[in-house]
Amino acid sequence: MLEVVGVPVLADNYVWLMHDKASGETVVVDPAVDAAVLAAAASLGWRISQIWNTHWHDDHVAGNVGIKAATGCRIIAPDDPEHPIPGVDRIVGEGDRVGIGTFEGHVLSTPGHTRVHLAYHLPDVAILFTGDTLFALGCGRLFEGTPDQMFANMRRLAALPPETLIYCAHEYTQANARFAVTVEPGNAALMERVREIDTERAAGRPTVPTTIADERDTNPFLRASTVAEFASRRAAKDVFRG
Ligand SMILES: [Zn+2]
Repeated sequence: MLEVVGVPVLADNYVWLMHDKASGETVVVDPAVDAAVLAAAASLGWRISQIWNTHWHDDHVAGNVGIKAATGCRIIAPDDPEHPIPGVDRIVGEGDRVGIGTFEGHVLSTPGHTRVHLAYHLPDVAILFTGDTLFALGCGRLFEGTPDQMFANMRRLAALPPETLIYCAHEYTQANARFAVTVEPGNAALMERVREIDTERAAGRPTVPTTIADERDTNPFLRASTVAEFASRRAAKDVFRG
């Protein structure tokens, strides 16, 4: 099986280390920094063999070159001509396959937050890396894309198996929860989840990974039934000050 460990860095980023014991491979997803990621891998005794990037933002790629220099790892990333990702060895896009040991990852194109954005799905182990597309109780801001694109992402990700673990790139859950309860104050599952989130955060624990099942029950963006409803929720969240 695969082991996934989060390295909290910067204000609220998670860099994910995914390790396959059988092959000895370790994949880093979206290294915001290099030193803390290298230190975490060293303390686990894991040798970093690959980096998978979701999109060009600095807090997802700034560790690429330093980690590659230290480990000789291979960097897999999307093709974004306007914002080339540093150190790329292999460009991937929708329908491509990546791998760690014998486990296969499916590359999903999920534009909206940025013009080019990928998610990585490992169906055999029900693991999904969503970058800045889907968050616990939230979704990415539409910096370069459209509500139609992000709504399509929500529909597509919601259709994945309910047990799928979602590893997103930020700990935004408490702030997202404050907005979510204004959208669906009558959602009992949401209210219960918000209490659990507050308990976890008060204890300094992460609220990620989440699951597709939990997001289907409580995430106002995943639960939007039309693109218009999605767009109005996204616009409201952009100016929300909880
Ligand atoms: Zn981003």
